[in-house]
Amino acid sequence: MGRLDGKVCVVTAAGQGIGRASVELMQTEGARVIATDINDKALAELAALGMETRHLNVRDTAAVAALAAEFPETDVLFNCAGFVANGTILDCTEEEWDFSLDLNVKAAFRMCKSFLPGMIAKGGGSIVNMASAVGSIIAAPNRFVYGVTKAGVIGLTKAIAADFVTQGIRCNCVCPGTVESPSLFERLRATGDFDAAMKAFTARQPMGRMAKAEEIAQLVVYLASDDSSFTTGHAHVIDGGWSNV
Ligand code: NAD
Repeated sequence: MGRLDGKVCVVTAAGQGIGRASVELMQTEGARVIATDINDKALAELAALGMETRHLNVRDTAAVAALAAEFPETDVLFNCAGFVANGTILDCTEEEWDFSLDLNVKAAFRMCKSFLPGMIAKGGGSIVNMASAVGSIIAAPNRFVYGVTKAGVIGLTKAIAADFVTQGIRCNCVCPGTVESPSLFERLRATGDFDAAMKAFTARQPMGRMAKAEEIAQLVVYLASDDSSFTTGHAHVIDGGWSNV
């Protein structure tokens, strides 16, 4: 018996990293998975694993609405898409601010607004949003606009949870610390010294290592499933103790 037997789960940014680990675990746990991303090559790999896939740019309001219309039976929405911008407030241009706010926060607004009516009509659903330990849990250097957006995701999550708690909707977010993922490795390479950057990132981890995407997927599946039926409106920190020390 799977923890997500009979559940229809829609996931954004499912192509790699935490999204990918999450759709794979959701499938293992019995869900019917609709995996979405803008990376068609990654979607083809997921289709080969037996998932339904759709090309979805979460910045495209019409495309988001069309997906929600196609899957009104959705039980679980995991809004995973997000981008890590580097730099302080002095580095952040208005264009970079607008891009990060749109991809990291407004996309979750679009998705939730489009999928909620179907979930309400069905009598319930679980929304899981991707926040971060960085934002309102702790700050990290050179993560100005990223931290702003992830704090925004926590606010969006709490507002939705409060407004729809009597209609069977639960809405939570996950706040991971540093997680091994393709984009993290790109950011480490972009420093010009991968090994030194990896050492520095690892040094700030109390457990002496970063998280694996599969460890974050376990929390996502818990929040998606009925195992977390009394949990809503919270920011669930999963950071190897980073924000505790
Ligand atoms: P990643 O950054 O390696 O992959 C991101 C995925 O998003 C890719 O498959 C990409 O094609 C897709 N994507 C990009 N733009 C998109 C768009 N407009 N529409 C739809 N999909 C799009 O994966 P990751 O590092 O696991 O990050 C996933 C999420 O987790 C992000 O929201 C990120 O902020 C958050 N997060 C990551 C970490 C970490 O250390 N990796 C920590 C905390 C939170």
